[in-house]
Amino acid sequence: MTKFYITTAIPYVNARPHIGHAIEFVEADVIARYRKMRGDDVFLTTGTDENSLTNVLAAEKAGVDVGEFCALNSGAFRKLADSIGLSYDSFVRTAIDNDHAKVAALLWGRCSKSGDIYRKVYSGLYCVRCELYYTDNELVEGLCPEHRTKPELVEEDNYFFRLSAYQDRLLGLIESDRLKVVPESKKNEVISFVKAGLDDFSVSRSVDRAHGWGIAVPADSSQIMYVWFDALGTYLTGAGLPSDMERFRKLWPADMHVIGKGILRFHAVYWPAMLLSAGFELPKEVFVHGYVTADGQKMSKSIGNVVDPQVMLSRYGADALRYYLMKGISTFEDGDFSEKALRDAINNELVGNLGNFVNRTLSFIYDRLAGEVAGQELGEGKLVMEKVHALAREAAALLDEGQLNQALLRIMEISSVGNKYFQENEPWRLLKEGDSGAVNGILLVCANICRTLGILIWPYMPSASEKLLAYIGQERRELKYATELLHGFSVGKPVILFNKVE
Ligand SMILES: [Zn+2]
Repeated sequence: MTKFYITTAIPYVNARPHIGHAIEFVEADVIARYRKMRGDDVFLTTGTDENSLTNVLAAEKAGVDVGEFCALNSGAFRKLADSIGLSYDSFVRTAIDNDHAKVAALLWGRCSKSGDIYRKVYSGLYCVRCELYYTDNELVEGLCPEHRTKPELVEEDNYFFRLSAYQDRLLGLIESDRLKVVPESKKNEVISFVKAGLDDFSVSRSVDRAHGWGIAVPADSSQIMYVWFDALGTYLTGAGLPSDMERFRKLWPADMHVIGKGILRFHAVYWPAMLLSAGFELPKEVFVHGYVTADGQKMSKSIGNVVDPQVMLSRYGADALRYYLMKGISTFEDGDFSEKALRDAINNELVGNLGNFVNRTLSFIYDRLAGEVAGQELGEGKLVMEKVHALAREAAALLDEGQLNQALLRIMEISSVGNKYFQENEPWRLLKEGDSGAVNGILLVCANICRTLGILIWPYMPSASEKLLAYIGQERRELKYATELLHGFSVGKPVILFNKVE
């Protein structure tokens, strides 16, 4: 078995999760489940980034103790992970995880020993919500390019990490894909950033400026670690460092970090440099998704259009939301969330196409063929099965490349092929005419298509997949079975997979 270690980014807990977080969870989960179907031994780490100044300020504004504030919002992220079906193995809360504090100190110690941590006085323009210093030419009209807020001038006597020493090595690693950045456009963005020259970055804050919140710098109690320095270590903590070294040796290096485009620099530049300095192997891939707007507008509290994924889950359920997020929104580009488009997708695609095909096939077998269909002869159906299996192989190839959106389109095309075949062959008419041999062949083809669909939709809609496979008595869902032809099925009483929304 090949191990596959995948992580989501760990969000700040200064606010409750929005639909963008939901997309990241679903993307990571689709990849994780697909790897499981291929036979990999998968481990997924997620968690919450709690040692940030931005969390402290949000807690102060809310008039709540920062520890309680983090616990509350971290709980909301965990609830989202659970209710949307993220199949995580480890959930790291950076503020309270003992192992995590040890990992942060260990990383610091190793980078320090390599001579890459030193102290200096620095002043610069700082965006607290990004937790990042910006240079003048990175600002857009003097504002943070992420938040459109004015950064503050900060002068500090801090520890710095010698990022400049890693410029050439990072460039070589990224250009050669030994550290793969997907998609290509984001790889090019990182390459230009590195080529423009890397400045050392500050990796600590005075206790005062950090409001006393965060992980202390080893052997210097006047300083707190820069939040990103500890947060990135979560990926090591989740893998088992330092308390489960057997697991850590098996899992590390990470195979894939799934992140949003706003934190690309941290994952493709800072993090690999820190790992090189500390003598850890580098992750293999950074997988970068875009941002989500709501009804064509940037989501923001002031506009009042922040989409709460928990509300969508309660209205439509996890499978439908997962489907829409993967089908309606591009994997790598920015995309737009619209509840109307979600409802249309449920009615037209899940109910009208997939649900319709599964329901007409299984009801026909259950009601008119006493739940049994078997035979060797597929007749013209053989060509249909070839087409279905070709589409299944295409979907798998696209999933291998991380094209989650394109793969799902192929899968839904399989369902369209099934509907068309059923409709054109009119098994209900043939049954009336007494041609039971032909009817049997047609329904055998349709049952096989249901099985292929049942397997392929598992990463996207795990509970619909499990129900469908149970109805046809086929619980195995390894990828290889998606292109296998069976010659007999026993069908149980089917229940509607998806319900129309009004
Ligand atoms: Zn910012």
